Amino acid sequence: MRTRAALFREPGRALDVAEVELDEPGPGDVLVRVARVGLCGSDLHVLRGEWRRPTPMVLGHEGSGIVEAVGERVRGLAPGDHVVLSWAPSCGECGPCRRGRPVACVPLRAGIAAGTLPDGTTRMRLGDETVYRMTAIGALAERIVVPAKAALPLPSDLPLEHAALIGCAALTGVGAVLNRARVEPGASVLVVGAGGVGQFCVQGARVAGATTIVAVDPLESRRGQAIRLGATAAFAPGDVAAALERIAPDGLDYAFDAVGGSATFDLALRSTRGGGTVVVVGMAPAGTTLALDPFQLTNEEKWVTGSLYGSEDPALALPTLLEHVSAGRIDLEHMLGPVYPLDAVNEAIEAMIGGAAGRVLVRP
Ligand SMILES: [Zn+2]
Ligand SMILES: [Zn+2]
Repeated sequence: MRTRAALFREPGRALDVAEVELDEPGPGDVLVRVARVGLCGSDLHVLRGEWRRPTPMVLGHEGSGIVEAVGERVRGLAPGDHVVLSWAPSCGECGPCRRGRPVACVPLRAGIAAGTLPDGTTRMRLGDETVYRMTAIGALAERIVVPAKAALPLPSDLPLEHAALIGCAALTGVGAVLNRARVEPGASVLVVGAGGVGQFCVQGARVAGATTIVAVDPLESRRGQAIRLGATAAFAPGDVAAALERIAPDGLDYAFDAVGGSATFDLALRSTRGGGTVVVVGMAPAGTTLALDPFQLTNEEKWVTGSLYGSEDPALALPTLLEHVSAGRIDLEHMLGPVYPLDAVNEAIEAMIGGAAGRVLVRP
């Protein structure tokens, strides 16, 4: 069948929206009509050439949609079901999967690096060219075929335009706080970077019962959004050190670096108290290095760790997250930014780079 998709060809060049050939779903696959795609910082890394990937590639890995067809071996999904796309359809059998780290699944990681699905295929072509797919998904298309494990069922009363955000930012940010750091009630938390993932770290900290939640971001609009979503204070990077002297003179219990850069990591590390925990959540450009003062680890006995996609199997994390959403504890609606049709995908990317408040969405 044919479908329209936004193709990335090389850094610095606008995406082309083109008609591509899409395979019919195989026995274990589902065909999804994509409803909304949230643009994520990881998409920008590919666009800017900071992560090298094969091309042409369909970007986008944070999406929701409606199942249109299922393969004969698929159980638990039927045409008409609303789904969120998971970019970690793990095999369940390799070493990392058996050790409880499905996001590190060996065939999944190999597929992500090669721009394919975990089985090594892409199911998409343009003439003689293979069309590759970002992060085992490639959601910036009207229709996609994915393994059934990559399409997680949603309640039909959750609007699909909200649900897209669950696919990357919400699972990642909330999971880093609840599953990786396990922030406890009454804790103090710093969140560095208040884009999509950072805003969900703020919300996760609120759900965990943290009583001090400080957000840091250069953009005023994002600081305001963080306050609305539960931060108790928000500062520009230049003002935060002086403010923390007042708010938490001994340092904070937890710091989440939702950017993953050397300056943001340094701020996170220096702002935590002795024995505190730093979690790197933001994905850095390839080749980034972090400067680590070893006395922060010896004299200060700080914990430094990272979190990928919420540090949990998305299929297991999703029901808990959906409970928080339906109880009103996690807010998706006020995370939404402007929406663009697929043909205006390049304007959507410009809006994201320009620092639009809220997640920029594409409606394929
Ligand atoms: Zn595996
Ligand atoms: Zn993402």
